Amino acid sequence: MYRSHTCGELRISHAGQQVTLAGWIQSIRKFGSITFTDLRDRYGITQLVFGEELNEQLSQASLGREFVIQAKGLVRERSNKNNNIPTGAVEIAVSSFSVLNKAATPPFTIQDDTDGGDDLRMKFRYLDLRRNELKRNLELRYAVNRSARNYLHEKGFMDIETPFLIKSTPEGARDFVVPSRMNSGQFYALPQSPQTFKQLLMVSGYDRYYQVVKCFRDEDLRADRQPEFTQIDCEMAFVEQEDILDMFEGMIRAIFKDVKNIDIPGKVERMTWEDAMWNYGNDKPDLRFGMKLLNIKSAFQKNGKLEANGELIAGTNFGVFNDAETVVAIAVPGTAEYTRKQTDELTEWVKRPQIGMKGLAFIKANSDGTYKSSFDKFFNEQQLKTVADAAGAKPGDLVLILAGTEERTRKAMSELRLEMAERLGLRKKDEFKLLWVLDFPLFEYAEEENRWVARHHPFTSPKPDQIRTMIGNSPVIENAAEYLKHPYANIKANAYDMVLNGNEIGGGSIRIFQRDLQEKMFDALGMSREEANHKFGFLLGAFEYGAPPHGGIAFGFDRLCAVLGGSESIRDFIAFPKNNSGRDTMLDAPSAIDNQQLTELGITIKTPSA
Ligand code: ASP
Repeated sequence: MYRSHTCGELRISHAGQQVTLAGWIQSIRKFGSITFTDLRDRYGITQLVFGEELNEQLSQASLGREFVIQAKGLVRERSNKNNNIPTGAVEIAVSSFSVLNKAATPPFTIQDDTDGGDDLRMKFRYLDLRRNELKRNLELRYAVNRSARNYLHEKGFMDIETPFLIKSTPEGARDFVVPSRMNSGQFYALPQSPQTFKQLLMVSGYDRYYQVVKCFRDEDLRADRQPEFTQIDCEMAFVEQEDILDMFEGMIRAIFKDVKNIDIPGKVERMTWEDAMWNYGNDKPDLRFGMKLLNIKSAFQKNGKLEANGELIAGTNFGVFNDAETVVAIAVPGTAEYTRKQTDELTEWVKRPQIGMKGLAFIKANSDGTYKSSFDKFFNEQQLKTVADAAGAKPGDLVLILAGTEERTRKAMSELRLEMAERLGLRKKDEFKLLWVLDFPLFEYAEEENRWVARHHPFTSPKPDQIRTMIGNSPVIENAAEYLKHPYANIKANAYDMVLNGNEIGGGSIRIFQRDLQEKMFDALGMSREEANHKFGFLLGAFEYGAPPHGGIAFGFDRLCAVLGGSESIRDFIAFPKNNSGRDTMLDAPSAIDNQQLTELGITIKTPSA
């Protein structure tokens, strides 16, 4: 027996017992002839005390940090207790010990405030995982996993595995491909999600399916994405949107209760996609704070000019507002006292290439009831007040205003809103705000390709009353600049996202389940019937053999864990993640394979010409 107790287990009530512990040496301190060490395992830390009689053995063993040892001894009360750890009232008076394995000096210190940089810790991930922070994250991940599984099991869902070596499933990214040795020149694709399989399972009659499953997407890794990530993937048959929202609100509620001991009262708030975009410039608004976007132009525009309360607001020469496609404002609480330096700095912030605005205008709604702005030349105080009021500003608030093209300006304002909330400490990690965003557009216009693509994926159904709009409409866009006038621009989908604190944590839809509508969808996406049959013949075929109405959702498991854990980074919640370039620096993957493997696969590598 290697151990009688773990390093996190012993309390004052164990005093007087003989125990055996095993673990890693966290630290060694010598006081005169006595040696103290902290012994660590997954469960905690226990202090060991080696008396003088063990000194010779100690010096032979030359113990160092991260050595794995076993120690036997008597539990006794500590004279100077450590109230910061649960075992801090006791220590082990070691009677004998043995070294189970030596350890090289670790490349960084394995403690809470480690001295290891990101890259080093990624390379030695197995050591980083010994630290409390990552341990807590993995524990939380497991708790979320267990809670979701328990809930789904109770609701009659079956966990059914689906294959990884498949044919492409479009989810909007590139596929990772795997060459087939036995079918030379042919490739499998790794699933971007089990989407088509879960739909086939509905056709097969397994009306409640789930899987905690890896998905693979070869995307350019924008901040905090991983090429392989995990979904809690679910599908149900004989359901309408309301049934799904209800079922998965229940799941999230259970997870919050089990993992965070937080009750989510009432129904989760709902917002249409249009309202989200209009009021927050974002399809996943963070509702922990206000600062709604005011679209000044539409609020005040008359006859092509900005007017308010019958008074011309920008009739003068303020071309910045008058000439812009849109002008958007937010009222930032309690920042009217920002200095020139601070507003200048914010202006620089919006001018950064990532935000891409030309400048920033502002109105100070001063606490004394006066108004000052960066464009006082053009607006009188009454006009400033009208705009500030419309933006919801209270005395003491700063109204920030951006003007420019519609899409960029709203996007920039959405970023600025988040930035200001961050600066003001309004994005609290221990506050959770859930939201359903509903009625997404069915299509999205892909400018580069001049065609419509599926906003969610091509298996998502249009709102029933809009199906007719889809049928018989040619997808050709004659004038690319006018795509918003195309009837497809307004078709809404039976699609929904769950948003938590400004993060999309889940998304799904009610599916198309009739062959003819699915074919219409492929038509709309500009896919020929041959191509549709080649790619999705199996699904179209299945729809002919009694496909039930169905729908589902998938939760981004890594992201859900990160948000619950109060972190921005999903990487911290994955045991062995990739870095920002999609590399596993510990394994050094991806890497070249040897020529024999290539020959077997019938692959020749084209080296880039010099
Ligand atoms: N397969 C979808 C996704 O990965 C989720 C769904 O529609 O259920 O986003």
